[in-house]
Amino acid sequence: MSFWDKLRRMLRRAGKRDAMRPKVASDTPNTETWTYPGAGIFYRCQLCGGIHEADQPDDFLDKVARCSATISASTQDLYRALQIPGEGGRWNIAPQEATFVFTRPGGEKCFADYGLIGSWNPETCSWLWAWHMPDFFDTHRPPETELTLVRRLREHGAQWGWQPLTEPLLYLGEPDSWHMADLAADLAGWPMVYRAKVNDSNYHYFAISRPVVAS
Ligand SMILES: [Zn+2]
Repeated sequence: MSFWDKLRRMLRRAGKRDAMRPKVASDTPNTETWTYPGAGIFYRCQLCGGIHEADQPDDFLDKVARCSATISASTQDLYRALQIPGEGGRWNIAPQEATFVFTRPGGEKCFADYGLIGSWNPETCSWLWAWHMPDFFDTHRPPETELTLVRRLREHGAQWGWQPLTEPLLYLGEPDSWHMADLAADLAGWPMVYRAKVNDSNYHYFAISRPVVAS
């Protein structure tokens, strides 16, 4: 076999290997075989079941940076001012009224309007938009009142062509998990975001209006 034949055969094999390698991060809907690479926003493709990286255009990144700066600052201020307990603290919700209740260390309660934004799993980095939860869960469907804001955010994302806001299932890191809630709070004109551990593996993220203190 000549050198050129060998080279051709080698290239063919390499070409085959490339062809076999999926063009997406995963070619299977089984996401257990895929791990979040630590940066970027990925989504589970509704067409092929694979995982693709989402496009993050400059206007999206600018918006995220602005929201994240203002909402995280006002959130920290309100946590301090209202002595809102951190994770593991006392909070509860009246989902039908979409009312969030924080109980302060002294027993006083703060009430606020809220929207459920999404659910994030720190182990898999999967993010489920709350507007997809009614389809995703057979049970534990959130009431409609909790979803009004997040549905508006999805429409907003569709208008602007911001794919991370319109794909139902994402994979993203912790900073971006907060950013999704920041975007929702900004859209509502609300100053605050909050997350709460809801089971062994998931946090729920909320956008919250300015709380009112009541004794
Ligand atoms: Zn696809």
